[in-house]
Amino acid sequence: MASMFGKPRVSAERPPQSVAECNVAVLGCRGAGKSGGSSSELQSCGIPARSRAATAGFSLTVKFLTKRFISEYDPNLEDTYTSEELVDQQPVLLKVMDTADQDGPVNCERYLRWANAFLVVYSIEDRRSFEGCGRYLDVLARHARGCQRHSPVLLLGNKLDMEQYRQVTKAEGTSLAARFGCLFYEVSACQDFAAVQHVFHQAVRELRRE
Ligand code: GDP
Ligand code: MG
Repeated sequence: MASMFGKPRVSAERPPQSVAECNVAVLGCRGAGKSGGSSSELQSCGIPARSRAATAGFSLTVKFLTKRFISEYDPNLEDTYTSEELVDQQPVLLKVMDTADQDGPVNCERYLRWANAFLVVYSIEDRRSFEGCGRYLDVLARHARGCQRHSPVLLLGNKLDMEQYRQVTKAEGTSLAARFGCLFYEVSACQDFAAVQHVFHQAVRELRRE
């Protein structure tokens, strides 16, 4: 597939390279669900109290990596978290920058220089957040044109559990991803834990293919 982010997304028949570290920046407008939510919000997703702390360990970024429950997460907090992961039986130090832009890309240098993979997140029940992703993908594509190395980009439609409030169709997500030649997934940070983990691991796999 052609990619706007440098080289073709999948290199022909090249065995995966070993990658010791993967720096993933998680981008998207506020409220897309990059960080996670409070215990009451997890309850509204239908997660019973006794398993909320455990399941929180697998939500989108912070909880996925820290494996601990943060009940009231500060929406302005921007931080980087580290986790040793096993991806296809190979260890990798996964570092995740949970960014906290308000309405779209601003001061992008901080993550453009640091990251070697990007997750661009919107909420399927918030069209504005989807339109924001278009702007992030533009910034990343422009940046990639001036770069030697290729950094994988994955587009993520979050809050799949909010199907009844959906404003962005799956076809629109697929089409935006196709325009930029990136992978696309729909997930629910509060329900579909294996799928969320899969997305992070896919970023590592894509990087290994470079
Ligand atoms: P951020 O600004 O992108 O970091 O968004 P947050 O992670 O702070 O989440 C914004 C709101 O969406 C919070 O109220 C979360 O609890 C909620 N949220 C996050 N992920 C999901 C999800 O998958 N499903 C539902 N229903 N709510 C979610
Ligand atoms: Mg956040």
